[in-house]
Amino acid sequence: MRRVGVLALQGDVGEHVATLASLGADVVKVRTVEQLDSVEALVLPGGESTTIAHLLGTSGLKDELGARLKDEMPVFGTCAGLILLSDEVVDGRADQWSYGALAVAVRRNGYGRQIASFETSLDVKGLGRVPGVFIRAPKIERWTDDVEVLASLDHGDGEHPVLVRHGHLWGASFHPELTGDSRLHGLFLDSI
Ligand code: GLN
Repeated sequence: MRRVGVLALQGDVGEHVATLASLGADVVKVRTVEQLDSVEALVLPGGESTTIAHLLGTSGLKDELGARLKDEMPVFGTCAGLILLSDEVVDGRADQWSYGALAVAVRRNGYGRQIASFETSLDVKGLGRVPGVFIRAPKIERWTDDVEVLASLDHGDGEHPVLVRHGHLWGASFHPELTGDSRLHGLFLDSI
């Protein structure tokens, strides 16, 4: 059984835990370095990227997670989690940091504010139609050639990737944990 963590500092932790558990994973809510050390893969949930970044610092997890990313631990960042993984945050808070692990530049709140939240149907490579919930979602504005685009969306300003994979790292602009469709989590688990 896969032992998978969900970073549980802030954000929609419970939904990721429930989805992964429904697929048979042994799920650990990660709040400490010991818990991080015990997992073979990690989900970074949506929430507030600046808050999660702050709590990574105060919990002592920041450097340890950075080291695990360098060691190529499989990590799936959704929404705020994608922001934390990315190379560059456009329109971030002045003091905002990110791990620079995933070769994408994301614009924070690139799909609009909370009131502009929307749900749509995405065409995911290898899976077909998957529902996508976008809540103050980051927009992937640039990415390198070796980043695999698994789904894109044209939300009125041309196609932008919304689901990407770069080796051991996965990133989604949207919230795959809020729809009852567990296939994306399944893909991630299969890749570990
Ligand atoms: N806009 C949020 C941020 O910058 C992310 C939103 C989300 O995770 N739903 O952290």
